[in-house]
Parts: sequence; C-alpha cells; structure tokens
Amino acid sequence: MRMTRMTAIAAAAVLTLGVAACGGEDGEDTGSTGSGSKTFEAGTTMERLNKAQKIIVGTKFDQPGFGLKGLDGKPAGFDVEIGKIIAEELGIPEDKIEYIETPSATREEKIEKGEADIVVATYTINDKRKERIDFAGPYYVAGQNILVKTEDNSITGPDSFKAGDKKVCSVQGSTPAAEIEKHLANKAEQLVVFDVYTKCIDALNTGQVQAVTTDNVILLGFIARNEGKFKLVGENFTEEPYGIGLKKGDTAFRTFINDTLEKAYSDGRYEAAWKETAGKFDENVPTGPAVNRY
Ligand code: GLU
Repeated sequence: MRMTRMTAIAAAAVLTLGVAACGGEDGEDTGSTGSGSKTFEAGTTMERLNKAQKIIVGTKFDQPGFGLKGLDGKPAGFDVEIGKIIAEELGIPEDKIEYIETPSATREEKIEKGEADIVVATYTINDKRKERIDFAGPYYVAGQNILVKTEDNSITGPDSFKAGDKKVCSVQGSTPAAEIEKHLANKAEQLVVFDVYTKCIDALNTGQVQAVTTDNVILLGFIARNEGKFKLVGENFTEEPYGIGLKKGDTAFRTFINDTLEKAYSDGRYEAAWKETAGKFDENVPTGPAVNRY
C-alpha cells in the first residue's frame, strides 16, 4: 500500500514536470489559455471552467463533517474542502464556487445534465454508477455501519434485522439502502427511505424506525451533533470508496482531478482539509487512498 502510494506520487511528479516542460504551466504553448495565473489546453473542461472563473459543485447540505449548509448559506465539510482544492487548481477563487445540493438519488442526473461540473458528495465509486458518469479518486474510503439510540442494545449488526421486527432507515439511491435489503426479512415492512439522511435521524428520534444505516463517517457526524443520543453498532460491513463524479468520457478532466488529489495528498492540503472538518469527530486521519486511473 505504502509503495503503491509512493509510486503514485512519483508518477504524478513526473507528469507535472512533463506538463511544465511542454509549456502548459509557463504559457509558452499557444494552444493554452487561462486566467488566475493558470493555463490549460484549449477545448478542455479545465480551460472552460478557468475562463468562466466559475465552477458548480454538487454536494450534500445536511451531512455534518462532509457537506452541511451553515447559517451563511454555504456548505462546509470535507467534501466541500475537496471541491475547493479542485477549484484552486483550476485557478478559480473560492467565492466563485457555486454549490448545489445533490441528494444521493440525484447525483448522476445532475452530472449528466451539466447542472454540476463535479459532484463531491460522499459518493461511492461503483460500476453501476460508472455506466452513466465517471469518477476521479477515491479520495477517502468509508464503510457502511448502523446507528441506533444509545440505550438500544438489541441491534448489534445488519443481521439483527433478519428477525423482521425492526425498521431501518436509509436514503433513496444510496449504496447502503441497497446493501441493507439483503439482511431484511421483509423489505416493504422494514426499510424506510427518504431523500436525505436528516429525515432518517428524525425518524429514529420519533421512533418510526429503530436504526439508520449509511457510511460510518456520515453517522459519526450525526453522533457528534447529537451528544449522547446515538451510537454505532459493530464493525463496518462494506467498503465505500468516495469518488468525485464528473461527465462520462471526460478523461482529461478526470486525469486533472486525480493529479490534483495526489498533489493535495503530498502538500498537506488534504490532511488539513480533514482536520478542519470530519477530523473534528474522527481522529483517524486518512493518508489519501491511491487514485484509480481506470
Ligand atoms: N456512500 C454511499 C453512496 O454513495 C452512501 C452515502 C450517500 O448516500 O451519499 O450511496
């Protein structure tokens, strides 16, 4: 793992040098234009966004630690910080980033329709989604877990739903909703789905469901915000590698984002982003998983 990462960083460094030597960075290449002291190859998404001095980032608005809309109307969190790093590399200032809310079930569509230039939204990379969009990353690996009320000791893992007497909430179009179905005796009776996770937390509070399931880090955010009320049960039972969604077939943009991630892993921006956001309730600082340049 270590070697892989080192090799990846070395490869990225060679690539960066290569680009500079071709004149991409110093403006010698007449096929490149740009503003904000960056130049990009003509016709690329990078050039279009840089010239427009604007990027639309799809993210979550109700997930503490990853994407949570604040009183100032702007979302904050690890995903938002990743979006800012990408904008920075595109030469776009932070105040020119437009955020749109992308609940789980809407992410592919928002990318396909061009309503978002990128989606950074606790977005698990998988083959089904790759049929419609492409992913840069992963930039983080989460895992599915279950949240219950602190005093509830009756649910200890996904198989606690097999008896059929407990209800669990998740979100439409999410991987955890699909996964938990396999552990239910009766899907129609036991699975409650909403568009966003805060509605699941409300349903747990009112007793409509006995548990909420999604990625551990999302649940940890809700635990932190509701001190003493909730807990996780057992171990993570899936792997959820988070990617940055972009338009299918835009390989140059995907490569650019992957290069940006590797740069941020090694120059400290990635670690700082974590510590300022999700790191406030999860002290396991990630080192940045090897990106998958499929
Ligand atoms: N990572 C999972 C997914 O992409 C769950 C989190 C979410 O719904 O955003 O579906």
